[in-house]
Amino acid sequence: MKLYIVGAGPGAPDLITVRGLKLIQEADVVLYADSLVSEELIKEAKPSAEVLKTAGMHLEEMVQIMKERLLEGKKVVRVHTGDPAVYGAIMEQIALLKEAEIDIEIVPGVSSVFASAAAVGAELTIPDLTQTVILTRAEGRTPVPEREKLRALAEHHSTIALFLSATLTKKVVNEMLAAGWSKDTPVAVVYKATWPDEKIVRSTLENLDEDMKANGVRKQAMILMGWALDENIHQKDYRSKLYDKGFTHGFRKGV
Ligand code: SAH
Repeated sequence: MKLYIVGAGPGAPDLITVRGLKLIQEADVVLYADSLVSEELIKEAKPSAEVLKTAGMHLEEMVQIMKERLLEGKKVVRVHTGDPAVYGAIMEQIALLKEAEIDIEIVPGVSSVFASAAAVGAELTIPDLTQTVILTRAEGRTPVPEREKLRALAEHHSTIALFLSATLTKKVVNEMLAAGWSKDTPVAVVYKATWPDEKIVRSTLENLDEDMKANGVRKQAMILMGWALDENIHQKDYRSKLYDKGFTHGFRKGV
């Protein structure tokens, strides 16, 4: 018995992996929760498939349904938004499924962090500027471990991608400024990346809260912060060593 956990990608139905789509098309039972999973994608299920929204169910209820259907010999696919590995709450499902000796196969998806970077045309790792991306969230009702507070992470001056933080921008800005980030640090916010109503808000730390309010962005947004998000970065002189004439690597001899 095996449950498939499939990453649906950020929204656009053609941004799921071929493997993920095939599983949805073959499934006898499709479960999905999120308002961030496209209905169009779920329509790819067979007409005879049982399609269940899990929003109103609690964990045990959902896992019970999965178990029952699997015991009937059915193919069961659970669809998650973006990639299941970040803020997917999959481990609590997996724990209960493992107890019932059910195998799990996870199919990755395009996370909203990468869909958002694509939407704004950014490379998140600019040579000589930053080689690190931190995926995190601001602390709201869900606690964040002490050593991972934004103020501590900001010390690295890397690119920072914030999930689940659109209502917490005031706090975000205060923490970043307190950690020494400059007011004019570029911030790109992508609301509903790859959806028809996608919206891009380019701002700075200083203006972030105001610009988010002015654009009515309060949810379903990815916040990308750091100088890699500078809209004019391509005019600056950052170059990867990989393509540098003087740099030798396995496939190309230096000149
Ligand atoms: N597993 C998902 C994240 C789920 S948590 C992923 O990999 O993308 C939900 C948060 O993800 C939202 O609050 C928002 O910050 C972000 N998010 C998900 N889909 C998004 C989209 N299409 N555009 C922008 N942000 C999105």
